[in-house]
Amino acid sequence: MDKKDARKYALALRSNIEKGDKFNFIVNELKEAIKKYNNIGIYYPIGSEIDITNIMNIYPNKSFYLPITRDEISFIKYNLNDKLMDGKFRTKEPIGDIVNRDDIECFIIPCVAISKDKKRLGYGKGYYDRYLNGYKGFKIGVIYKELNNLDFEADDFDVVLDLIIEG
Ligand code: ADP
Ligand code: MG
Repeated sequence: MDKKDARKYALALRSNIEKGDKFNFIVNELKEAIKKYNNIGIYYPIGSEIDITNIMNIYPNKSFYLPITRDEISFIKYNLNDKLMDGKFRTKEPIGDIVNRDDIECFIIPCVAISKDKKRLGYGKGYYDRYLNGYKGFKIGVIYKELNNLDFEADDFDVVLDLIIEG
């Protein structure tokens, strides 16, 4: 498949996946995976994306950052119960100063699908590909297991994940 077809396939399938206890399962796996990091980039879920925001309740003493989307994405520190504003693509965005990417030790990244060679498929805008180009920290992809190891041709510029948590 090419990426366009893979995206179409994955998004259609995703909305029909029975979510059951998947979010709790994934958050529990994340709990182990991020143990040693104190500054962690996360995301606010849209549509049928995996909701991992509960990780903030598990680690009240770590610092978490949420993306804001303008021409490109950047990240802002978010403290639980801070106000969130409506952002692009029905996501929610914190208010505050943009942090340096490299001060974030680890990113938890939403994925539409993941290829057999651990490359991330997103919505087709390439925001994470550009933002994480040259990033040396740890990249965790979260994915429904039905959409992991999908057979599609990824590109050289696609984000390669260091760890995949599927549920
Ligand atoms: P997504 O990663 O959201 O699934 P794509 O991988 O299809 O989206 O990327 C969308 C576009 O982003 C690509 O067509 C490419 O032109 C652009 N892009 C991705 N990475 C880079 C980069 N490192 N520098 C410049 N443009 C990039
Ligand atoms: Mg890409």
